[in-house]
Amino acid sequence: MGRIIAIANQKGGVGKTTTCISLGVGLARKKKRVLLIDFDPQGNSTQSLGYNPDMLEVTVSDVLDRVIEKDYTIANDYGIIHSQEGIDILPANIELATMEMKLLAVYIGREKILDKYIQMISDNYDYILLDCKPSLDIITLNALTAADSVLIPVQAQFYSVKGLEQLLNTINQVVTGGLNTRLTIEGILLTLANPQTNNFKEIKKVVEGAYGQHINVYHTHIPRAVTAEEAPASGKSIYLYDGTGKVAAAYEQFTQEFIKEA
Ligand code: ADP
Ligand code: MG
Repeated sequence: MGRIIAIANQKGGVGKTTTCISLGVGLARKKKRVLLIDFDPQGNSTQSLGYNPDMLEVTVSDVLDRVIEKDYTIANDYGIIHSQEGIDILPANIELATMEMKLLAVYIGREKILDKYIQMISDNYDYILLDCKPSLDIITLNALTAADSVLIPVQAQFYSVKGLEQLLNTINQVVTGGLNTRLTIEGILLTLANPQTNNFKEIKKVVEGAYGQHINVYHTHIPRAVTAEEAPASGKSIYLYDGTGKVAAAYEQFTQEFIKEA
């Protein structure tokens, strides 16, 4: 059974999608079988891997629809794209936004729809990464209910730490409320860092001081670089777009640390 990891933070632009793709491709380069589920109606993961979200006939919404309709005849690879970078992706587009209403209309078990799907396919993979949207709604709740753990990218910036409390509270409620009692926190990854600044060192200290005793704060941080900003539009991961650059090196190191901690 694959390990299921939700990459979540209700703040946008903190490096969730970049981390999801870079970790996913990093794991695939180590011969792991990886499925990335794009779980954000913006479809950024889908697009960053070179697929146009608006041109896709089947996306994660169709899969959820089937489960809601209790149609469990979903073939193992229904909707899944085998990307040229060695990972599989279940893409998303704006249709996932309308799923929110449909999920809310489900009378019992509305948080467990994604979980039901993942249970059906998880044997095919070593890792299933869920690229969450920047909110803590019923869609993200489905991801937290399906996951074994949450990986939290945090932008190395002074105000980022504030929003963390809300996310940690939500995770706590998912566990104590019984929605998903096995859910743990994989770790906090500092992203978009300017490591040479005093500010960065200060932020790292604050995060480690506030959470380090209970939560794994990764030693590796991801530096900011222009190539990482350009990569999504090229439809390639950072490994293909700028394989010798510092962001690819950082994600490679992070992938090692991630495997070791897991
Ligand atoms: P999220 O999924 O949390 O919204 P993204 O991964 O999409 O965050 O990143 C937000 C923006 O920052 C994107 O334009 C992305 O290309 C850019 N970005 C991500 N990581 C880096 C980095 N290490 N250096 C520079 N830009 C980055
Ligand atoms: Mg994103």
